[in-house]
Amino acid sequence: MVDPDCLFCKIVKGEVPAEIIRAGERTVAFRDINPQAPTHVLVIPRDHHPDAASAAVHDSGLLDEVVREAHEVAVAEGVAEAGYRIVFNTGVAGGQTVFHLHAHLLGGRGLDWPPG
Ligand code: AMP
Ligand code: ZN
Repeated sequence: MVDPDCLFCKIVKGEVPAEIIRAGERTVAFRDINPQAPTHVLVIPRDHHPDAASAAVHDSGLLDEVVREAHEVAVAEGVAEAGYRIVFNTGVAGGQTVFHLHAHLLGGRGLDWPPG
């Protein structure tokens, strides 16, 4: 369940460097290279799933773990109490550019709604 051409699979394997801040049995969390908020961390499963919906269908429970990990990162970063946002961009029109499931954890500033 690894795509040899996938950037985030390469981060999981250590072939591409990333600032990893949390690593679990099934998930890895690392800082986004182009942060959109003071805290901007990506939480990904070690296994390759193209998007959140696909992971929900094929690996029951995995998304729970991704969200739990995102919350733990928010707590560790000190943004949990004020509030934060978890985003799963899905598909091209949804703004997805890397087709390996990732939760964006954004916090540390006021986040407008609706998003851009
Ligand atoms: P998305 O547009 O939802 O698919 O999000 C992909 C995210 O991955 C973007 O926010 C990018 O800034 C981020 N990104 C791309 N390459 C890297 C990398 N090598 N290390 C960390 N984050 C990355
Ligand atoms: Zn992948």
